[in-house]
Amino acid sequence: MQTSQVSASSGSNAVNGRTPVPITVAHGDGIGPEIMEASLRVIQAAGAALEIETIEIGEKVYLAGNSAGIAHSAWDSLRKTKVFLKAPITTPQGGGFKSLNVTTRKVLGLYANIRPCISYHPYVSTKHPIMDVVIVRENEEDLYAGIEHQQTDEVVQCLKIISRPGTEKIIRYAFEYAKAYNRKKVTCFTKDNIMKLTDGLFHKMFDEIGLEYPEIEQEHWIVDIGAAKLADTPEIFDVIVMPNLYGDILSDVAAQITGSVGLAGSANIGDGFAMFEAIHGSAPRRAGQNLANPSGLLLGAIQMLVHIGQGDIATKVHNAWLRTLEDGVHTYDIFKEGTSVEKVGTKEFADAIIARLGLVPAKLPAADYSNAKSENFNIKLKARPDQLKELVGVDVFLHVKNRDANVLGEKIKNIKAGNMELNMITNRGVKVYPNGFPETFCTDHWRCRFKSEELRTSTFKDVMSVLDQVYALDLDIIKTENLYTFDGHSAFSAGQGQ
Ligand code: NAD
Repeated sequence: MQTSQVSASSGSNAVNGRTPVPITVAHGDGIGPEIMEASLRVIQAAGAALEIETIEIGEKVYLAGNSAGIAHSAWDSLRKTKVFLKAPITTPQGGGFKSLNVTTRKVLGLYANIRPCISYHPYVSTKHPIMDVVIVRENEEDLYAGIEHQQTDEVVQCLKIISRPGTEKIIRYAFEYAKAYNRKKVTCFTKDNIMKLTDGLFHKMFDEIGLEYPEIEQEHWIVDIGAAKLADTPEIFDVIVMPNLYGDILSDVAAQITGSVGLAGSANIGDGFAMFEAIHGSAPRRAGQNLANPSGLLLGAIQMLVHIGQGDIATKVHNAWLRTLEDGVHTYDIFKEGTSVEKVGTKEFADAIIARLGLVPAKLPAADYSNAKSENFNIKLKARPDQLKELVGVDVFLHVKNRDANVLGEKIKNIKAGNMELNMITNRGVKVYPNGFPETFCTDHWRCRFKSEELRTSTFKDVMSVLDQVYALDLDIIKTENLYTFDGHSAFSAGQGQ
């Protein structure tokens, strides 16, 4: 780990009359080092007062045998500075390597990922001249919990985890963000017509928390049509909040349709930490050629400057950057004959911004962060009473090679324990016993549901008795899932076709 001060010192430790703020910087992989060097050079020239600790993360660390891609000493630096400016890294393909991006967001509790995607028409060519969308992506949960298992020869699974506090935090964050930045509308995307419990909770929390923000327009879209609308008419959106996976995918789409995925930065905000980065990856094919657009990381760095209370520097950098775009000085990804004036590399683009420090854009709206506060809105969760949880049954998952549902059904149909009896068997979620369709294709992965029709209460002893009886039939139990009611409402999905 190396420490260095950025910008010219005047006096003991002060930089331009300010005490330098400690931050941790990682130069990353692929195009990372080039865009980081360019971004730091620009903010340094603008007078950012930073005390930089440099850490090594990513490919080199992974390939040296550290499957997390980050050394312990790097965590020490992050814990100390609590502010992280990170270039993209390459996650090696294959098993064993965990995504460091996902790990960092989760270990540091960076629950909100804010990704502004803006068009710079007519200076950057885009099919969508009017676009100013902020995607607020939930950053810790969903399928990115990364809990995956192979359970049978034919079936693997990934758990989608959506928590009430995680959801409440991100929804509140989206509304607080809209309020702070004078945004008029918050839209929520989910797929709750299919995932009624997980995405259903996200939608329900959106409706519930939304009541506290009557001044902000609110709407919900099913994610598929929402995504289509976002790609087609982004001008109808303002702030969009969504679960992790949809947010990851759609923020790339949104950034790309503004002109380039290289144009969007992102802030990852938690209660005690913040990480700033570009939304794109390490683009290895463009590495080392002085080609990459550093704008995404630079915009991340601007969000960081606001976060650490150097809004005046953020304003200066942002306006010089806008002026550079207006002047048609463009990297290859946004260069277009007729619109652009000069095609430049990463370094020359940074030089062009530095040459314009102090200027403001002539036509594009100028940035002004003089009153902007940190994007950590200090979200507090609502106190909620415990719910009454009652066990009413169990799903027993089996690995059975024979694809005939009736053979399995006949074998286990007489199993009973307490109030539980065989209710149905499903395969990939669709009911196949009793009265399944012979046309339904079955894999070797079966779910056998034991419960009473009326959801009468059971005990865990009953569950163990069911398992004993299944085991006695020489069946291969691969997992179980208890079935509960909460406050009397069934809290598990029905079988498709049930
Ligand atoms: P990518 O975003 O790295 O690149 C996709 C393409 O987009 C590039 O080939 C290039 O044409 C263009 N592009 C991206 N950034 C650009 C820029 N700044 N300037 C100009 N053009 C740019 O996506 P990928 O190729 O799918 O992923 C490469 C690696 O990056 C993978 O290892 C992936 O895991 C990693 N990744 C890291 C992060 C992160 O560190 N936050 C995020 C996404 C992907």
